[in-house]
Amino acid sequence: MGKLDGRVVLITGAARGQGEQEARLFVAEGARVVIADVLDDQGEALAKELGARYVHLDVSQEADWHAAVAAAGSAYGRIDGLVNNAGILRFNELVSTPLDEFQQIVQVNQVGVFLGIKTVAPEITAAGGGTIVNTASYAGLTGMAYVGAYTATKHAIVGLTRVAALELAGRKIRVNAVCPGAIDTAMSNPSQLDPAANTEETAQALDELYSKLVPLGRIGQPEEVAKLALFLTGEDSSYITGQPFVIDGGWLAGVSVI
Ligand code: NAD
Repeated sequence: MGKLDGRVVLITGAARGQGEQEARLFVAEGARVVIADVLDDQGEALAKELGARYVHLDVSQEADWHAAVAAAGSAYGRIDGLVNNAGILRFNELVSTPLDEFQQIVQVNQVGVFLGIKTVAPEITAAGGGTIVNTASYAGLTGMAYVGAYTATKHAIVGLTRVAALELAGRKIRVNAVCPGAIDTAMSNPSQLDPAANTEETAQALDELYSKLVPLGRIGQPEEVAKLALFLTGEDSSYITGQPFVIDGGWLAGVSVI
């Protein structure tokens, strides 16, 4: 018995990183998964490997959401789970951030989650209920210098999660958020995308950085976030809704004076 037997879950930004690990774990737990992304080659290849379905979905585009839901419906007949995972990060000082850059981050991270809830919740309702997991961040609960636009959108996702939980509880839809700290994906470790990068050197630099910053002394792994998303999608979290769940190795717990 898998923890997601019989479930149909759409995961955005699932071609790589945390979304990829969520897709792998959810399939292993019995779900039929719709892998959605803008990285078509990677998404198609992963779907083929897992026996899942790939759809091109730019989360910032409402028409793409309608097409993705229709594709999921024709492949599996319904959707009863959504993981809003897609996101982008840009580093900039607030006073130097061009308006276009700020708006682009809002459009993908914040509008993308809003559109996901708006488009998929009626499908989950029609399926008799289910779950939505939104990917916020450590930066959704505290400030982080030089990622102002990103931080603003991740705070907004926590707010959207709470409101959606209130409005959708009557339709048997639970809505929660994951708030990862530093996770070892291309987002926090762009050298993963650079074939010329010295991976050993980068790994050592990251180890040094996170051994100082994070109480548990290391960067997190995308597989660890996938396990939290599984918990919030499956029946083990049946009485939990409207909450942000921090997964950060203790980073947000406070500061150490020693
Ligand atoms: P990643 O960059 O490897 O993955 C992000 C995925 O989102 C990619 O597959 C990308 O193609 C996809 N994507 C980007 N724009 C899209 C769009 N408009 N429509 C559809 N897909 C789009 O990074 P990740 O760490 O796997 O990020 C997953 C989520 O976790 C993001 O929401 C990110 O903000 C969040 N997060 C990451 C960290 C971290 O340290 N890596 C920490 C906290 C939160």
